[in-house]
Order: sequence, then structure tokens, then C-alpha cells
Amino acid sequence: MQRLKDRVAVITGAGSGIGLASARRLAAEGARVVAVDLDETAGKAAAHEVGGLFLRADVAVEDEVRGVYEEVHAHYGSVDIAFNNAGISPPEDDSILTTDLEAWRRVQEVNLTSVFLCCKYVIPHMRRQGRGAIVNTASFVARMGAATSQISYTASKGGVLAMTRELGVQFARDGIRVNALSPGPVNTPLLRELFAKDPERAARRLVHIPAGRFAEPEEIAAAVAFLVSDDSSFVNASEFLVDGGLSAA
Ligand code: NAD
Repeated sequence: MQRLKDRVAVITGAGSGIGLASARRLAAEGARVVAVDLDETAGKAAAHEVGGLFLRADVAVEDEVRGVYEEVHAHYGSVDIAFNNAGISPPEDDSILTTDLEAWRRVQEVNLTSVFLCCKYVIPHMRRQGRGAIVNTASFVARMGAATSQISYTASKGGVLAMTRELGVQFARDGIRVNALSPGPVNTPLLRELFAKDPERAARRLVHIPAGRFAEPEEIAAAVAFLVSDDSSFVNASEFLVDGGLSAA
């Protein structure tokens, strides 16, 4: 299926997990992928695999995000899709009682400020074109107060949801759709790292997933492809849950 033929798609965190699976899926659907990642080796490999462009950037740093969009504009002259996906897992003990301010700030910078910056620098291009699709990665945790003890992480993802709704409403008449994608637990390095520190947590989480398993990154990428394609032309300012029923259970 070539739903995204020749569309320019900027994917942050494209070197691993959900971003990598999405780079593969969007490229398979015809998109020209720009893989953005802090990790040069992983990002380059992803870009090489999908025949795309690699741009190294820390998406929490304004000058670097501005630089990404200058490069994309210089290279392609347009940008149709932004998948703002890069993120980090919570600090080891992310309870309000133990998380220090520095750890909290880093999570907000990478998970929330990065989405602000990526939207700030892509929306002017999309407005000029009169079209664009943005997907921001949130998380099921933003809607669950279920004692996850991930205060920094949960708050950052709640911010992503709120920002998504506001931007989707504000720019709808410019032809820009902004949606959030909220995965449940996905079998990626981020999750494996988290569960390696606390194996019991994995078992506890699994019990509550009606599907009885974690998602594979490709299952999230399929939803991303839908949200950035014209098949979702009337889906805007929404949260798209891909969590195997977890948040309803
Ligand atoms: P991952 O660790 O496999 O991949 C994240 C990628 O982002 C890595 O390649 C990393 O180098 C890159 N990255 C990290 N910080 C960056 C920065 N400052 N600038 C540029 N790149 C940076 O993680 P994943 O599981 O694929 O997670 C992707 C997104 O999905 C994150 O926003 C995460 O919070 C969210 N999410 C993941 C899960 C899950 O269970 N894996 C569930 C819900 C939401």
C-alpha cells in the first residue's frame, strides 16, 4: 500500500523501538523518511535501511530542532508528516517522594518540551503548504492514576495530550491535523530496560492487559501510518489508544 507516496516524514527517535518500526512502515508506504535521533549509530542505521536521511539532534534543544527543520526544508522543500516520538523512560524511582527536581526536569525536557519544539518548528512549514499531519507519542499512563509511581513520566505524557488537543483545534483550518498516539506497554528497549530494573513490575502490568501480552512496535507503527495518512482525514485533536484494552480494564 502506497498511501504515503513521496510524503516527507520526520520521525524523532527513529533509531529504536516504535520510531524504528514506524520508519520502516512509513517508508514501506512510500514516504521519504527523515530519521532524527540523538544516537548517531542507531539513527544512521535506520535511515540507511529505509533509504532516508539521518539528522542527529537532541530534540530537547531548541537550536538543534530548528536545525532539523532548516535541513529538511533545504533538502526537500516541504514536510508533510511529523512523528514526534522520541522519549525517555522514568527515572529509577519516579515517585513524588523520591524524584529530584533535576530528574523531573530532564523527563519534561525530552518527553514534553521536545514535542513543543518540534511542533513550533514544523507548523510554520505546514501552514505555508496548507497541509500536514502531526502525531505526538503520549502513553496510556497519562490516563491512569493506577499507582504507577512514575510522576515525571506520567505528567510529561499528560502534557503531550493537552498540547495535542490545543494544537489540533488551533490549526485545523490550516489543513493541519494533530493527534496523539498512546501506546500501552510495547516490547522495545525502553520497556525492557524498565522491567529489567523491576521484573515484578512486568508481571503486574501483564496481568492487567486484556490482550494478555505486550504490543510489538510494528502494531504501534500500523496506527501511526493510519494517523498520518488521508485515511484518517477527519481524525484530529484526538488521542488514539493502542493498548490492548489496558486503560479500559
Ligand atoms: P526506545 O528507547 O526504544 O527508543 C527511543 C529513541 O529515542 C532512541 O533511539 C533514543 O536514542 C531516542 N532519543 C532519546 N532521547 C532523545 C533526544 N533527546 N533526542 C533525540 N532522540 C532521542 O523507546 P520506545 O519504547 O520506542 O519509545 C518511543 C516513545 O514511545 C517514547 O516517547 C515513549 O515514552 C513512548 N512509549 C513507549 C512505551 C513502551 O512501552 N515502550 C509505552 C508508551 C509510550
